[in-house]
Amino acid sequence: MTEIKRVYTFGNKTAEGNASMRNLLGGKGANLAEMNLIGVPVPPGFTITTDVCTEYNKLGRDKVVELLKNEVEKAISFVENNMNAKFGSKGESFPLLLSVRSGARVSMPGMMDTVLNLGLNDDTVKIIAEKSGNPKFAYDSYRRFIQMYGGVVMGVEAKGKTHDPFEEVLDEIKDAKGYKSDNELTLEELKQVVEKFKVVVSKNAGKNFPTDPWEQLWGAVCAVFDSWNTERAILYRRMEQIPGEWGTAVNVQAMVYGNMGDNSATGVAFSRDASTGENIFNGEYLINAQGEDVVAGVRTPQEITIEGSKRWAKRAGISEDERLNKYPSLEESMPLVYKELFEVQAKLEKHYSDMQDLEFTVQDGKLWMLQTRNGKRTGAAMVRMAIEMLEDGMIDEKTAILRCDPNKLDELLHPVFSKEGIESAKILSKGLPASPGAATGKIVFSADKAEEIVNNDKEQKVILVRRETSPEDLKGMYAAQGILTERGGMTSHAAVVARGMGKCCVSSAAGIRVSHDTLEIDGKSYKEGDWISLNGSTGEVYEGQVPTIIPSLAGNFGKIMELADKYTHMYVRTNADTPHDAKVAHDFGAKGIGLCRTEHMFFEGDRIIAVREMILAEDEAGRREALKKLLPIQRGDFEGIFEAMDGYGVTVRLLDPPLHEFTPNDEKSQVEMAKEMNVSIEEVKSKVEALHEINPMLGHRGCRLGNTYPEITEMQARAIIEAACNLKAKGLDPKPEIMIPLVGTVKELEMQEKIVRDIAEKVFEEKNIKVDYLVGTMIEIPRAALTANEIAKHAEFFSFGTNDLTQMTFGYSRDDAGKFLPIYLEKGLLKNDPFQVLDQTGVGQLVEMAVKKGKETRPDIKLGICGEHGGEPSSVEFCHRVGLAYVSCSPFRVPIARLAAAQANLR
Ligand code: PEP
Ligand code: MG
Repeated sequence: MTEIKRVYTFGNKTAEGNASMRNLLGGKGANLAEMNLIGVPVPPGFTITTDVCTEYNKLGRDKVVELLKNEVEKAISFVENNMNAKFGSKGESFPLLLSVRSGARVSMPGMMDTVLNLGLNDDTVKIIAEKSGNPKFAYDSYRRFIQMYGGVVMGVEAKGKTHDPFEEVLDEIKDAKGYKSDNELTLEELKQVVEKFKVVVSKNAGKNFPTDPWEQLWGAVCAVFDSWNTERAILYRRMEQIPGEWGTAVNVQAMVYGNMGDNSATGVAFSRDASTGENIFNGEYLINAQGEDVVAGVRTPQEITIEGSKRWAKRAGISEDERLNKYPSLEESMPLVYKELFEVQAKLEKHYSDMQDLEFTVQDGKLWMLQTRNGKRTGAAMVRMAIEMLEDGMIDEKTAILRCDPNKLDELLHPVFSKEGIESAKILSKGLPASPGAATGKIVFSADKAEEIVNNDKEQKVILVRRETSPEDLKGMYAAQGILTERGGMTSHAAVVARGMGKCCVSSAAGIRVSHDTLEIDGKSYKEGDWISLNGSTGEVYEGQVPTIIPSLAGNFGKIMELADKYTHMYVRTNADTPHDAKVAHDFGAKGIGLCRTEHMFFEGDRIIAVREMILAEDEAGRREALKKLLPIQRGDFEGIFEAMDGYGVTVRLLDPPLHEFTPNDEKSQVEMAKEMNVSIEEVKSKVEALHEINPMLGHRGCRLGNTYPEITEMQARAIIEAACNLKAKGLDPKPEIMIPLVGTVKELEMQEKIVRDIAEKVFEEKNIKVDYLVGTMIEIPRAALTANEIAKHAEFFSFGTNDLTQMTFGYSRDDAGKFLPIYLEKGLLKNDPFQVLDQTGVGQLVEMAVKKGKETRPDIKLGICGEHGGEPSSVEFCHRVGLAYVSCSPFRVPIARLAAAQANLR
C-alpha cells in the first residue's frame, strides 16, 4: 500500500505542490508553492493537506497527530536547514519561529485567525534578544504571541466582546504611563506584560501557557482543524454552499520579521488599482511593524509608490516636506526593496493573468512575499481590467467575459454615494436592498406632495417615505429620487416598480414607523423636509444629505457588452410599460419587450378617471362607454412602445391586477373621487367595499377579469392591433405579441384567444391592412405548468411569470412574505429569497416540465421568462439550460442579463 502524503514542503525556489493543487493544499498553500516555483522569495514552510482535516474530523486529534508526526518533523528540519535556525533552540543557533495559518480551497473570511511567533518561550526569547541584539523586539514578539495563541488556540477571549483581558493589562500600563500606543512600552514593561499575560491565560483557560514549542505547534495545527467546524464556519459554508468535506489546509511557515528595526517593514499591495482598475501598482506599508499593525489603524500606513504617496498627501492636505519627512513612500525609503517588489508583482500578475493582492514583509532589508491571490475589485475596476488585459493580450475574449461578475455591473448603472460622503454619514436603519443605487433628498409622505414639489422646481430632490406603496403612488415614485417603505419584500409593489424605473428603493426597513406625517426611527422623529439618504444596493438608510455621483458608462462597459453579445445564445428583452422606459432599455441593449404591464399606463395623468368610470359602471353598456375613452389613450402608448422597439417583439399583457387597486382606500381620496366622478361618496364607498377581497392575489384578477368582462379584453386587443396597423402603414415593423395572464386551464385561454383574434380580424378589415401577431400566455400558475401540453394548443408562446409561480408553488404571499422571509434566511431555512433567486429545485421543475410539454404540442413554441428572475444571473443560467429563447428584465438589469446569458453559454 502506498503511503498517503499529508505534508507538502516549499522553500528556496522548490516546492512539492503547485498552483493547480488548490483542492488539496487550499488556495493559500497552492500559491505559496507556486511562488517558490517561479522564483519569488517566500519564507520556507509546509502545508498540511485539506484531506488531513477530513481525517481529523473522523479519527480525532491523537490519531491524526500520530499520523502526521513523521512528516511534520521532517518538514520542520527542512525549514530549519533553509533558515539556518532551530525550532526550540537551546542556544546552539537562532531559534526558528513559525506562523500557522488556515487556508481552504476558497477563501472563507471570518475563519480562524493567524498565529504568529510560535516557538517562543522563556528560553527562546532570551536567545533571540541576545542574538538579534534587539531585546525589545524579542519581548514585543513574545507578548504578541501569548495574546494571539491565548485567544485563538486556548479560547481566552473578550467577554461580551468588550473586556478583552489582554487589552485590559495593556491599557492599565499605558494609562499609568500616559502612553498612546503599544510601541511606547519599554523593555522592562514588555517583560511585565509577558508575565501578566501568562497569568491571564492560566486564569481564563484553566491551564498554563505551553512552554514546549512542539506542544505549541500541535495545539495551533489542531485549532485550525477545529476552526473548520465552528458554528460560524458551518453557517458560512451553508450560505456559500461550500461542502463540509472540503476541509481546510494548515500552512506553517518560518517567521520573518517586519518589526526588527528601521530596516524592516510589512505591507500589502495590489498590482492594479482595485477601486478604479487603473494599471498602477499601489499599496501601503509600515516600517518596523508586524502584519496586523497595517490593518489595525494604530499608525498611519504609508504609500508604496512615490506617485501614490503624492496623491495621498494631496488628498490629506499634507505638504511635500512633511510627506517626505514623516510619510515617505517605500520607493523612497527602501529603493532597492521597492525595485524588487515591483518586479515581483509584475511577475505574479503576468503569471496568474490577473490582478494580484499581495502581502509582504521586509526583514532587515530582505523582501519576503507572504501571500498572493487574485484581488477583489469594484465593478468599475472589474470591467476596466478585463478589457485592458484583453487588449494587452494577457487574456482571451472568453476569459474577459467570465471574469466579470454580472451583479457587479449594477454599480456602473446607478448613482453611488461619494466615498468621502459615506465615511462621515450616520446609518439610521437597514432594510431590504429592493432597488439599487443611491439617493438623497427631502422626506415627503405622499405621492401628491412629491409630484407637487418636483413639478414646481425640477431641481428639488425628494425621497418618498411610505408604509407601503400601491399603484396610486406611481407618479410620486417617478418624481422622487428614491423610495423608503416600512413594509414589503423584494417583489412588493414598491420594489418591482422602483427596479423598473431604475430608482433606488429600500423596503422593510428595520425599526422604522411611518405615519402620514412622521418617520420615526429609534425614537427620533423626522418630518417633511428633513433630509435622508438611501443606499438601495445595501439597504442602508442614512441621516442627512450624503452626496452622490453618477458613474460613467465609458468605453470599456460598452466593449464588455459587445463581447457578451458575441458569445450569447439567449437574447435579452425588457419589462417596460412606457415609451420612455422602452427607450432606456433599448439603449441598454434590450432586443424587444418581454412584458408590458398595461395597467401601469392607467395611472398617468387623468386616465385614472376613465378607469374609475369603468369600475363604477353599473352594467356592460356603462363599462363600454368608459372603455371607449381609454381606447385612444392605450393605442397612443402602444404606438410609442412599438416605435421604440421597432422590428423587435413586444409582449403586451392584458389587464392583470384586481380592480380594487384602481380605487382609493383613504377617505380623503374617496371624497375627491366622488367629486371627480360626480357621484355620491356613499356610492364610491360601496364600490370599494364590493371590490374588497380577502386574498386579492388569488382573487378576481388576470384572465378572470377578461373572461368576466370580455369588453375589457376587446378594448385592449383593439388598441394593440390598431396601434400596430397604424405604424405599419407608416412603414415601421411592429411585432405585437398579446399575452393572456394568470391562465390555469386551457379553456380560460381559449376564450380570451377567440376574443383577441375576432377583434384583430375586424381591425384588419376596417383598416385594410394586416400585421403579424402572436397570442400566447404566461405560465405563472402551477396548473398551467402541469397542463402545458394542453395550454400550448392555444398559445403561440409561453412567458414564465416566475413571480406568481414562486408565490403559488411555495404558498408564500408576495405581499406578506416580508414578515418571515428575512428570518427564514437568517436561520438558514432558505438559502436565498426565492422571489429574487429562482428556486431551481422546486419552481424550476415546473418551468422545465412546461418547456418540455409545451414543445411536445408545439415544437416551435416561443419561450421566455418575464418574472423578476429574468435579471438574476444564476436564474438566467438556469433559463439557458432549460432552453428558453430569451429572458426579460427591468431596463437597468438588461446589461446584467446580457453578460449572464453569455456566461451561461460559455460555461
Ligand atoms: C409574474 O408573475 O412573474 C409576472 C411577471 O407578473 P406580475 O409580477 O405582474 O404578477
Ligand atoms: Mg404575475
